[in-house]
Formats: sequence, structure tokens, C-alpha cells
Amino acid sequence: MLNIVLFGPPGAGKGTQSERLIEKYGLTHLSTGDIFRANIKGETELGQLAKSYMDQGHLVPDSVTIDMLRAEVLKSNSSKGYIFDGFPRTNAQATALDDFLASIGTQITLMLALEVEENELKNRLLKRAEVSGRPDDADPAIIENRIAVYNRETAPVKSFYQAQNKLIFIDGIGTIDNITDRLFEAVESRNT
Ligand code: ADP
Repeated sequence: MLNIVLFGPPGAGKGTQSERLIEKYGLTHLSTGDIFRANIKGETELGQLAKSYMDQGHLVPDSVTIDMLRAEVLKSNSSKGYIFDGFPRTNAQATALDDFLASIGTQITLMLALEVEENELKNRLLKRAEVSGRPDDADPAIIENRIAVYNRETAPVKSFYQAQNKLIFIDGIGTIDNITDRLFEAVESRNT
């Protein structure tokens, strides 16, 4: 199996590039943000809970997120592998993911970490707000909060995978195609 963690700050292009990776390698896409948004739209209990955190730019609690992710993996039953987009976002989530994947006889192959500087992120998110309708994209104060949460709680997850020799940095500035090429090259370097 090829199991990829596609990592990066909000607005780094994870969603866009996930689509390219899925198409090329036949992976199953698991985006925790998308799953939460689907639950909000469907007015589920999980959606109601998640919305209160997401609208403020906070993380949904680990226990809720980890349980949901496990259930989604078991439900999807992929043979080729997964692309984890927006997960893990804390070291506790990373540890839980390692344990869970081991329990089903697989593991993370590599983490691809998209790197984009902060001003560019803010511009991209405000631009995305014009089409996404996402309340967490539209307000500069919420964007600041999401970036602060990323720096404080999520960026340390890179060290978690670096310690396992699985981290590859990808320059996230350039055309969408440029960045896709860099990602493919990184996957090929490990996927032997
Ligand atoms: P982005 O990467 O653009 O910030 P996402 O769609 O990945 O957007 O996430 C949107 C929001 O969903 C996050 O700000 C957070 O509130 C919640 N969320 C998504 N994934 C997780 C996660 N793994 N743990 C906790 N909260 C999450």
C-alpha cells in the first residue's frame, strides 16, 4: 500500500494536489476537513460539534477526530492506499494513526509537506473565500487564528515523521502543475 500524509498550513494547496495524487496512484482520499463539512451540511451531531470549533479556527478535539478517521478508513476498505489530507494535525493524532494502521497491517509510507510562506497563505485563503463560502476563510482574524494553531499544534507533526525518516519537503509556490510534478517525483523516490 501507498499511504501518504499530505501536509501543510491552511491554504497550502492540499485539496487541489490531493486530487492529482489520487488520480495518478488510485488512492482513497480522506480529508478530515471535507468529512466535517459534509457532516455540517447533513446536520449530524458530529457536524454540530465540529462547526463550533471550525468556525473559530480551532481544532476539533483529538478524540472526536481520531474516532471519526478510524471509522472512515474501516468503511472505505482501500487496497491501493490512502491519502490523508488535514490529518494528523497534532502529535496525538499522529501517534493514534500509527497505532491504528499497524493494527490493520499497514503504515504511513511518507509525509509530503507543502511549504508556503504566510503572506501568500493569507492571500490565497481570502481569495478562496470568494468561491468556497467557507466562514473560516472569509474573516482575516479567523485566518490568523488558523495559522497560529497550525504553527503551535500542527507544525510539530513534521518532526514526528522526520524521526521516522518519512518527511519530504515540497516547495508549494509555483503553478499547480509544477507543484504536482514535485510531488510525483517525491513519491517515485520512495515508491519502489
Ligand atoms: P485548511 O487546511 O484549509 O485549514 P481543512 O478543511 O483541512 O482546511 O480544515 C478546516 C477545519 O476543520 C480546521 O480549521 C479544523 O477546525 C477542522 N479540522 C480538520 N481536520 C482536523 C483535524 N485533523 N483535527 C482537528 N480539527 C480538524
